[in-house]
Amino acid sequence: MDDIRQQATGGGGGNGDEPSSINKSTIHNAETYQRSYNHLINEQADDDIFHKTFESKAKSNESDQIDNKDDIVDDNDDQRKKTGLIYYDDCIEHYCLWDDNYEENPRRYLRTMERLFEQGLLDECLRLKPRKANENEIQLVHSSEYIRRIEQICSLMDPEQLEQESSKFDAVYFTPSSYDCALYASGSVLELCDSLMSGRIRNGMAIVRPPGHHAMNSEACGYCIFNNVAIAARYCQEKYHLKRILIIDWDVHHGQATQQTFYKDPNVFYVSIHRYEQGSFWPELIESNYNFCGESSGRGFNMNIPLNQTGLTDTDYLSIWHNLLLPVFYEFDPELILVSAGYDSAIGCPEGEMLLTPAVYSHFTHYLMGLADGKLGIILEGGYCIESLADSVVCTVQTLIGQPPIPLNMKYPINQSVIESILNVITVHQSNWSSLCIQKTFDRHDPHIDDIEEQAIRKRHYPTLEYCGLVDLLDKRPETYPTRDCYPKHSEEDGKKLQKIIEILRQNIQEKTIHYDQNRRTCLIRSSDQSNRHSAPQTHPERPNRIRYLWRLLKTEKILDKCFVLNNNDNNRLVTDQELTSCHSMDAIEKISRTKQMDYKELREYEQQFDSIYFTQDSFLVAKSSIGSLLKVVDCVLRNECLNGFACIRPPGHHAKRSEPAGFCLFNQIAIAARYALEKYRLRRILIVDWDIHHGDGTQDIVADDERILFISLHRYDNGDFYPENIQASNYRTGKRNIINIPWSNGQMGDREYLTAFFNIVMPVAYNFNPELVLVSSGFDAAENDPIGDYHLTPAVYGHMTHLLCSLANGKIILSLEGGYHLRSIANSALECIRVLLGETPKSLSSSSSKSTTTTLINNDDDDNNNNNGDDQNQKQWKLDTNAIDTIRNVIDYHSDYWPCFVFNVDLAKNTID
Ligand SMILES: [Zn+2]
Ligand SMILES: [Zn+2]
Repeated sequence: MDDIRQQATGGGGGNGDEPSSINKSTIHNAETYQRSYNHLINEQADDDIFHKTFESKAKSNESDQIDNKDDIVDDNDDQRKKTGLIYYDDCIEHYCLWDDNYEENPRRYLRTMERLFEQGLLDECLRLKPRKANENEIQLVHSSEYIRRIEQICSLMDPEQLEQESSKFDAVYFTPSSYDCALYASGSVLELCDSLMSGRIRNGMAIVRPPGHHAMNSEACGYCIFNNVAIAARYCQEKYHLKRILIIDWDVHHGQATQQTFYKDPNVFYVSIHRYEQGSFWPELIESNYNFCGESSGRGFNMNIPLNQTGLTDTDYLSIWHNLLLPVFYEFDPELILVSAGYDSAIGCPEGEMLLTPAVYSHFTHYLMGLADGKLGIILEGGYCIESLADSVVCTVQTLIGQPPIPLNMKYPINQSVIESILNVITVHQSNWSSLCIQKTFDRHDPHIDDIEEQAIRKRHYPTLEYCGLVDLLDKRPETYPTRDCYPKHSEEDGKKLQKIIEILRQNIQEKTIHYDQNRRTCLIRSSDQSNRHSAPQTHPERPNRIRYLWRLLKTEKILDKCFVLNNNDNNRLVTDQELTSCHSMDAIEKISRTKQMDYKELREYEQQFDSIYFTQDSFLVAKSSIGSLLKVVDCVLRNECLNGFACIRPPGHHAKRSEPAGFCLFNQIAIAARYALEKYRLRRILIVDWDIHHGDGTQDIVADDERILFISLHRYDNGDFYPENIQASNYRTGKRNIINIPWSNGQMGDREYLTAFFNIVMPVAYNFNPELVLVSSGFDAAENDPIGDYHLTPAVYGHMTHLLCSLANGKIILSLEGGYHLRSIANSALECIRVLLGETPKSLSSSSSKSTTTTLINNDDDDNNNNNGDDQNQKQWKLDTNAIDTIRNVIDYHSDYWPCFVFNVDLAKNTID
């Protein structure tokens, strides 16, 4: 680690004699910036190397074009890679011969396809050719005797006989076509997987029936004949040697058969969210409860999230995603994700009796698209309210093709029984997943547990286990199961009410769906050419090269070609005085404008009055033009001309206070942009996230009393020793609901710390706040190699943070450059952010992280050697700095009075479950 730190800070004392050569007048009193000057001497040389790298890269690209035309074509194909859709019209031959109203019926398929067609989504996707699975493939999960038996049953032609055979299984019907349909369903999912793995498609969905997740090794069950998803996971393990497959099952029923298949397998992580009601909901199994975590080397790789109440909402489900699923999914780092996508928790489904809106599935889907290099296959399972099923599939597919998630109407408080379920799961899985580290534990048998006062007032959670089902209490299964009327139905009146609500939700989706031109998804702007004239007389970290290098990389990587590039070179958009006064005092404006008339000597003297500021005669104009550029981006996004944007501008802004410039910042661009959007576009809520390593104290100063703005800053604090060295203002005790500081102390933070803060703080509170626009003060000085920051965030994690935020505000997000002083790191990090804004998949964290303490992947081939193998490796993989954990806990605790989303900082009783 020490080596890494030294590298990042530019080595040991080798440059100790250099600062004398630097004009001290540009440094001023912020000692923390001093180090950068030592480093800069190195970096200047570094710049030249970078320059050469660019040139050689550009050259090699040119020669590629000449020598290797095929590669280029492939490259282009890659960019246009589509979402795959696979469906099989003849699946409508599988229907219940003796009950037209049977829940699992062809209308589910027909209406879903009709809605996809109406929304133009079929044209947007690549249709894959359905195929039958062969017997070997089915045998990956099912016994050959069982396959024979199903084939034989389906060879019967007499409905009475078919019904009789069906009655031997729990909730299953057979027709003469069922065997073939089931083979097509499974085979089509395999085709989807092959297309994903070969890179033919970007991601995809299989709209198949019969569903699969209840089909066990030798038993059809719950409308399922062959277990499509389980077969696909086994198939990918064998064919592609995958070691980490994630199956997320959001069908409202527990996929007990999938659990059984992989219960001892550490290479397939099965996660199910299901209605349970203490075991009284079908399939009423004890094994569906949260304490079933997998066995032997598969321990930890089975996660059940049982829900013990009905009527749960988007808010409840998203709290599961933020506080539980996202951490473990990122820690698991899957190579492929398969979703058992039942839509029976969608509103109106008589099975689920939940209240999820179709739109929420776009959020689930969006989150998953950030993982596994985008290799995401969504496979239809249940869903029996035909209209909400169809709309939910539409939302899912829209998201797969790159539409932003539809904004939700979140309702608080979070359901208490869901909070308990989440805490139960965390209690049993904390030892398996070190990403679940926010909750402290206590020993309930410790006689001194209440001795310390502070402990006594902490909220405690005692997990309990309850089972009220019948099935597992009866010794034997019934001889026959009912085959008719064996499913719940709404009363006519309820049905009508629900249809009305679904209709309203549909209109809402229709209104919110943004139709943007693919070539104008992301707009970019850079500071005008004249911004070069704002530079320090001597080498200074905040210098014009920062933008030049970034822009060059965007060009070489052909990112500029994909963006809608605005420019402000003629300075035709300067921020107006009126716009400036929305955030700054006249005095502050005056202080800066007077530098226009100063000569060199006067400027040098004048600078001394300020904290870390330099001026040239052009500084005022440059600042005004840069902010004008950002406002152009705001206009572009809020007029729906583009979906999102990135402003590569300087000087930065977030230290500029209402009455005074500071810390390289003249005017506070992000605050001005926020006020501008609020006023001009009559927005009501804007989220500002500031991930520059320094606290955006200026932004906080300006927006603290403006409840329309939620300001969240993640910054290095070091107990007040890090710039801006304000012990009070930069701490988490902000005294304001709308100011959330996440102040890191005493550690060198990296990807995991930032992501954990996102999962547990930023995302929950952002959804709670429900912004109409997200602005990011996007400094890259927490990036690896930065001479000032000394943290080690990888470029990839900036992409992931961007991706997470893209789930908000209907995708309207604007990043604006703040700090960042290592040219390559700025360029690489910004590049990742812009790629993600363009809708591309964030880079995998494990492959990109060069500085990560371990790149060991979970690999439990040697199953039997060590039962804890997986656990140990996981812990190594996602070990957080303990100071960071404390910081996150403090922030959650402090803000839990303000925000109802913060209910998970509870101490967990360890070891025993009653
Ligand atoms: Zn279901
Ligand atoms: Zn900074």
